[in-house]
Amino acid sequence: MPPAPRRMLVTVAHPDDETFGMGSTIAHYAASGVEVHVACATRGEAGEIAPGSDATVETLGEVREAELRAAAEVLGAHRVHLLGFRDSGMIPAEQNGDPNVFINAPEADVIAALTRLIRDVRPLVVVTMPPDGGTGHPDHIRICQLTTKAFKLAAHPGYIEPGGIVHAPAKLYYKEYPQAFIEAVATVRPEMMEHLRQSGIDKFGVDDDAISAEIDVSDVLATRMKANACHVSQGSPFDMLPPEMVPEVLGTDYFTRAIPSWNGGEKERDLFAGL
Ligand SMILES: [Zn+2]
Repeated sequence: MPPAPRRMLVTVAHPDDETFGMGSTIAHYAASGVEVHVACATRGEAGEIAPGSDATVETLGEVREAELRAAAEVLGAHRVHLLGFRDSGMIPAEQNGDPNVFINAPEADVIAALTRLIRDVRPLVVVTMPPDGGTGHPDHIRICQLTTKAFKLAAHPGYIEPGGIVHAPAKLYYKEYPQAFIEAVATVRPEMMEHLRQSGIDKFGVDDDAISAEIDVSDVLATRMKANACHVSQGSPFDMLPPEMVPEVLGTDYFTRAIPSWNGGEKERDLFAGL
């Protein structure tokens, strides 16, 4: 039997999450021949506009979609899939009365869209944002929760509503930030950490021993920095990183394996390990 095609699906909430959070993972696997698909829930309409960008509140969604597509091309992604929801902003769901934003979209609709995508793309590996969203953004937390549900339902023959042919991806990972990473970023970007703290987040990242996979992505740092630069309207959080710190801060990507769950032991060095 021929080996299963090496496909990966990466799910994120906004344009730039695929690069600032996942860029090295996408570039590393694309460079090694994996067909990487990027699914983005929204067009990032509610983001802050960085100085130096021509975007306006009216054009931001359009501008960020173009930035996402440009960055995905730089990273070597095979295809970008937009799920078509609206950016919720940082406002908590209970205060956000807009029924069209991602955080308020009916769970069944989001799960159906993600399940259909998993059945169409047929990935071996799915990667999504961490359970705490990394920055605490409600859209980040939701894409993690609902990707996890869709991962299970895609394989369920009784779940017929989204259509498509049932498919069981082999593994689900959360892209995490261990404490050591957070401390390294905090030393060079204290104002970024302060900004997050003001958003009500007092603990960043996961304990180092919760990490189940560490992937050396130092081969794609130049590509990743090029993709960062595509997101002019947002400004890269890594712009202030002194070049000599780039390999230390961005040379390794960290994950927890959500499915099948990880019970300790040797860390994986490849998300396709054992497949
Ligand atoms: Zn985001």
